[in-house]
Formats: sequence, structure tokens, C-alpha cells
Amino acid sequence: MFSSVWKGIATSLETKATAVYFRGSSKFFARPLSAAVVSSGTGAVRRCLGVHVYLVNLQKFRTVGIRGMHSTLEEVKLDGMQVKILPALQDNYMYLIVDGKTQEAAVVDPVDPELVIKTVQEAKVNLNKVLTTHHHWDHAGGNEKLVKLWSKELQVYGGDDRIGALNRKVRQDDTFTIGNLNVRCLSTPCHTTGHICYHVTTADGQGEGAVFTGDTLFQGGCGRFFEGTPEEMYEALCTKLASLPDNTKVFCGHEYTLQNMSFARHVEPENESIHKRIEWAKMRRASQDPTVPSTIGEEKSWNPFMRVHESAVQKHAGGQTNPIQVMGNLRKEKDTFKA
Ligand SMILES: [Zn+2]
Repeated sequence: MFSSVWKGIATSLETKATAVYFRGSSKFFARPLSAAVVSSGTGAVRRCLGVHVYLVNLQKFRTVGIRGMHSTLEEVKLDGMQVKILPALQDNYMYLIVDGKTQEAAVVDPVDPELVIKTVQEAKVNLNKVLTTHHHWDHAGGNEKLVKLWSKELQVYGGDDRIGALNRKVRQDDTFTIGNLNVRCLSTPCHTTGHICYHVTTADGQGEGAVFTGDTLFQGGCGRFFEGTPEEMYEALCTKLASLPDNTKVFCGHEYTLQNMSFARHVEPENESIHKRIEWAKMRRASQDPTVPSTIGEEKSWNPFMRVHESAVQKHAGGQTNPIQVMGNLRKEKDTFKA
């Protein structure tokens, strides 16, 4: 009896420690006690793991390993919904959107299905939708595995036939629900031709709402124009996304804020909001906290690609006054900019 209880505790500790070890929680490893707990188990693996916990350069391991975590997990509470920020790969973000009323959930770009499933099970929510922003592997690459591991009933949304497991193809202004939440699709071709941003709001339209922008809009920047033109990115950023309410929370596909803001500062050295955000983002990154979300209003204040009408930005882009030309020039410059 005693030994089975102990075995259960030891196994549970080992499982937790292994999960944290490979996913790299800074909080866990801040305490050397964790290694002592792990090594107090009986098996060679446990002892071995204990030794490893002491010897491995954890900081390096965490940030370079493909299973490592670049940021801490965080939950953002909005009116009527929660958004769990789930780091993946080197600098990607997945997001679990949960309707506060029904506990129905959808996941955005689940490239790491195991972490998604673990989070869903711990939160005891009902995951039944996948929102794919675009077909690139680091966003859509986990879709098929998630369907296999979680449920064949998963509804997989996206705007591109190249997206794995896609069974709900969407276009501009298509709508669907996550429990009581409304989702509207915004077609934003340019980074890829089938890129979709998802605007999520509460049923009564009250509250700030959230937009999941994949690789179209980043905090302080935008995605590369792999399959599109400056006109299309202008339409995406300055017409469609810019027309969302200013308090809409922006959840983008990568942790690129410091690099992007460095370029923003280069474009507009006098813009105070950029300097403030850089200081704030440096503090957040020092403790590996995510810098998402921002808001649409904030992006309008610091993101050069949403500020192509501003004279300071136009001056930087060679004195161009055509905003689409400015967009093209800025992107060209950013493609080779070294932060
Ligand atoms: Zn991409």
C-alpha cells in the first residue's frame, strides 16, 4: 500500500518534472529544490534526470531546443472570453480561445498539439475548432496530428487548400461561433494568398474583442510579402484591420516585438510611443514573458506599416506620399534591416 502510494507520487513528480524539463518553465528551475525532489525517486532514470537538471545549461536548452519554450504561458482575461497564450517552436504563439459562458474553445495555429491537448485537459474546456491563419508549417503543421490525437470531429477553419486537415474553408466576412462568441473572418492575402485573420467578439458586441492576425500584422511590424503585393498589405493593415475598434486586442503569430520595434524606432526616431514600448518589451522579455497582446489603437500609434499616411514615415520612405509606395519601400528596407 505504502509503496504504491509512493510510486504514484514519484511517478507524478517525474512526469511533471519531465514535462517542465522539456518545455522549460523558468519558475520551476528557479528552485534547486526541484532537482532534489526529482532525484529522490528510486529509478536510474530519475537519478539521471536529477543529474541532468543540475548540469544542463537550462537557459540555452530552453531557447534553442525545438521542444523548448521561448516564453511563459499566460492567460489574458477579456470581456466574455479568456485567451491562453501558448508558446511554440522558437518564437511562434498558439492561442486557446475559451468562451466564458459555455467553456467551448477554439485553438489558433496549433503547431504543438501535445501542449494544446494538455492545456485543454487541465482547463477542462471543450475544444472543437481549429482556426488556421495560413498554410505555413509553423502555423498549420500540427493540424493533422491534433485531429488524430484529439478528435476527428474537430472543425478546421482556414482560407487555403494547402492547410492540413482543412474541412471549413472560409472567405472574407464568413462568420461562425465559439459557444456564445462570434468570429468574423478577414481575408488578408499578401504574406500568403489564403491568409485569414479572425476577429472574435462577444454576442452582445460589448467588450474589447480580439483579433488573431497570424503573420499579417505583428506587434510593431508585418509579415513578409511572400505571395502578395504592397497594395494587398495596405488593404489588410490600413483598411481591414485598421477599421476594427481601437481597443481590439491583437494576438499575432510570433514573438517579434523587439526586432520590429527596433525597425519602427529607425523609421520614426521621434515617436515616443515606440520608445516606451521598447522599454516595456525589454522588461517583459527579460523574464521571458510574452509581449502580446497589443491593441489596434496601439499599433496605429507605433507600427510603421499602419502609419504609411504619416508624414514622418513618408519622409523616411524617400519622401513618397503614396501610402502604397511607402508600404512597399518600408517592407523592402525591413527585409534586410539588422536590429
Ligand atoms: Zn508565415
